[in-house]
Amino acid sequence: MNQRLTTQNGAPIADDQNSLSAGARGGVMLQDWQLIEKLAHFNRERIPERVVHAKGSGAYGTFTLTRDLSEYTIADHFRGEGKQSEVFLRFSTVGGESGSADAERDPRGFALRFYTANGNHDIVGNNTPVFFLRDGIKFPDFIHTQKRNPKTNLKDPQAMWDFWSLNPEALHQVTVLMSDRGIPASYRHMNGYGSHTFSLWNEKGERFWVKFHFKTLQGIKNLSNEQADRLKGIDPDHAQRDLYASIEDGDFPKWSVNVQIMPEAEAEQYHLNPFDLTKVWPHKDYPLIEIGVLELNRNPENYFNEVEQAALAPSNLVPGVGASPDKMLQARLFAYADAQRYRIGANYNQLPVNCPHASQANHYQRGGAMAGAGCPFHGRTPDSAGGVNYGPNTQGGPEQQAQYAEPPMDIAGAMARYDKTVEDDYSQAGDLFRLMSADQQQALCETIAATLSQVTPEVQARMLAHFEQADPAYAAGISQAIAALR
Ligand code: NDP
Repeated sequence: MNQRLTTQNGAPIADDQNSLSAGARGGVMLQDWQLIEKLAHFNRERIPERVVHAKGSGAYGTFTLTRDLSEYTIADHFRGEGKQSEVFLRFSTVGGESGSADAERDPRGFALRFYTANGNHDIVGNNTPVFFLRDGIKFPDFIHTQKRNPKTNLKDPQAMWDFWSLNPEALHQVTVLMSDRGIPASYRHMNGYGSHTFSLWNEKGERFWVKFHFKTLQGIKNLSNEQADRLKGIDPDHAQRDLYASIEDGDFPKWSVNVQIMPEAEAEQYHLNPFDLTKVWPHKDYPLIEIGVLELNRNPENYFNEVEQAALAPSNLVPGVGASPDKMLQARLFAYADAQRYRIGANYNQLPVNCPHASQANHYQRGGAMAGAGCPFHGRTPDSAGGVNYGPNTQGGPEQQAQYAEPPMDIAGAMARYDKTVEDDYSQAGDLFRLMSADQQQALCETIAATLSQVTPEVQARMLAHFEQADPAYAAGISQAIAALR
């Protein structure tokens, strides 16, 4: 027999098809609290859309460690060959709204959560190893250029190229975005990167800088501009459909998990700033070390609860994994958790997808909207243990754990807003251009020309001067492609 239909207070509903009215023709009675509850809740079905990464897909899975990292870290999920950890991974596009097409040329979010024995560890990365900026103070301006013009409410190539032309640090990521990897065929057929430099630290108090790379085992597959344009019309949700169906069919997508590791002191001598998010660490300097495999094998039961309300944040770190001086990471350590508090509320970490699954949260934070939701994995909330709401105390409350203290990090320097134009913004964009085949270079130049041709001559000239510095052949290819459109 079907379950009984009830109101929110659990009372059985006798008639859910006809509102309570005075006579057969109405009006409707204000006392119809069942109708009011239904409409009032419907009005509140949405929470604020993410400003970026609004359109997304997510799934659960498993991370299996195949190489013990005890020499580098005390992090539980990176110790003990064969150890398995539950994971959640949310993919997304960046610039579009929650109803936008999956086949846009746009970076893809690759936001991974490990549910570890010492808390949730999130790596909130992209499918690109670098980013457009190296300082979070520019982020709101940059995103404004990717979204709709405030007057016309249209996407705005002039704003986009104007900003990039004034911020040459973006050139490397612009090259990735405009390359054949700029429109992945699906979320399964692309790599993921932690992008930032993070740190690992071990029992001896030694620190290592680390970058995370997730290489697709499905193989890289991309869409051409023409294929993407068609798909946007035929099936704007193709990546969501592909991910969901492959997991339902038991065809579980996998990524090999790799790290690059740099001992702490080497950062001082290294020829580039290893904390600059617009740069990679060349593989010949720091080869990839394979440490495990990531598999997605379980679809969420409820998209809104588990994907829309998934609240990942780079500040979700665990003992043995830390931040780095990367300025963009520092900004994100604040901004992501702040965005989740705004979107979902102060107790977003009590929701089932966000609460620690493999460990237990115990703290003295109390109250706030929706307190007490409870983590189904522990049957309790972090604030439910007794009446004590302060620490330290002598009432048996949770105690700090000195053995997990992060080793001290040397930081020195005069406080100032440092001019970043001293950095080399061109070499690695050029390196990427030079490793492409002639066909890939041609497609890259044509893709750039398609929108660069629409902007003012002044912005075009400024951009071509940047491409010239990355590689003269890069600028020449774009100039020719623009000329061909005239
Ligand atoms: P390598 O020759 O050792 O590696 C080249 C890398 O480029 C590979 O990881 C490859 O990924 C990736 N790649 C190939 N085509 C594209 C593309 N269209 N968009 C993005 N990545 C692509 O070179 P280096 O380590 O010396 O780096 C050279 C350049 O390669 C860098 O300037 C950077 O642009 C790019 N790159 C470097 C990475 C790094 O961490 N060192 C990571 C990704 C890109 P795959 O192996 O999956 O084919």
